[in-house]
Amino acid sequence: NIDRISNVIRTQDILRRHNFNFKKKFGQNFLTDHNILTKITETAELSEQVNVIEIGPGIGSLTQYLLEEAAEVMAFEIDKSLIPILKETLASYDNFQLVNADVLKVDIQEHIKNFKNPDLPIKVVANLPYYITTPILMHLIESKVPFTEFVVMMQKEVADRIAARPSTKAYGSLSIAVQYYMEAKVAFTVPRTVFVPAPNVDSAILKMTRRAQPLVAVKDEDFFFNTMHSAFVHRRKTLINNLQSAFGKDKKTQILELLAQADISPTIRAEALSIPEFARLADALLPLKE
Ligand code: SAM
Repeated sequence: NIDRISNVIRTQDILRRHNFNFKKKFGQNFLTDHNILTKITETAELSEQVNVIEIGPGIGSLTQYLLEEAAEVMAFEIDKSLIPILKETLASYDNFQLVNADVLKVDIQEHIKNFKNPDLPIKVVANLPYYITTPILMHLIESKVPFTEFVVMMQKEVADRIAARPSTKAYGSLSIAVQYYMEAKVAFTVPRTVFVPAPNVDSAILKMTRRAQPLVAVKDEDFFFNTMHSAFVHRRKTLINNLQSAFGKDKKTQILELLAQADISPTIRAEALSIPEFARLADALLPLKE
């Protein structure tokens, strides 16, 4: 019998009392659906042995569900007008820490020392602002913070691209950048009607679990990512065409020789290459690194 912040009537009351105006530039779409919030929380598999980082708590709709299950929740919210609202809506929880900051600029490593038990595994659970989903995700994944899992809402189209398999339309550099570190799976899709205000796109919950080590071992990580990005610059062009553009027309013979040694066809397209094949490609082309 918990009084839910996400209840439509309660949400409207909170917004009205605080004279809150939605800010488009912050990607504010608040969740108002008990079933979806329950499903997100279940997908995150929380317990009193897990700390949670939430990005963008809004008025606390999702936060409240997380606080009921997790050891502690630390939330980063950029919009300072939401801070007094959150202090009111979540006042009864003593396992909540709120930071008024842009998640892309704040030193998360420093903040997580403030968890009562900083040694517990940390999961990221969030309904992300859609205008910067990818920068936030890459920032968190590549940060030194040892998040074990991400359960995050995003535009469905972006979730599909992240979880995509080779030789599909959605597969590309984003799939590889994430899957190199994480196992990624679309958990379920979410209709636009469960948000206030409703976004213009459908959404999905993506669950990403960190691998014990990267999916493949490569000789030079930077070169691997650069080569992979170069291969996808013009999706419709062949591998050799994209590689020539990246390394120089004068390198064609050398590239062809290295591809032959790695047993990779120069005329395929990047989207046909699996992540282990990209690793083989980058390792083979390493002599071309400047
Ligand atoms: N969690 C709430 C919910 O589900 O109802 C709100 C989700 S809303 C899609 C995104 C939230 O992220 C907003 O509260 C917004 O102000 C916040 N936000 C946007 N950009 C941010 C940033 N760079 N750092 C931290 N929070 C941000």
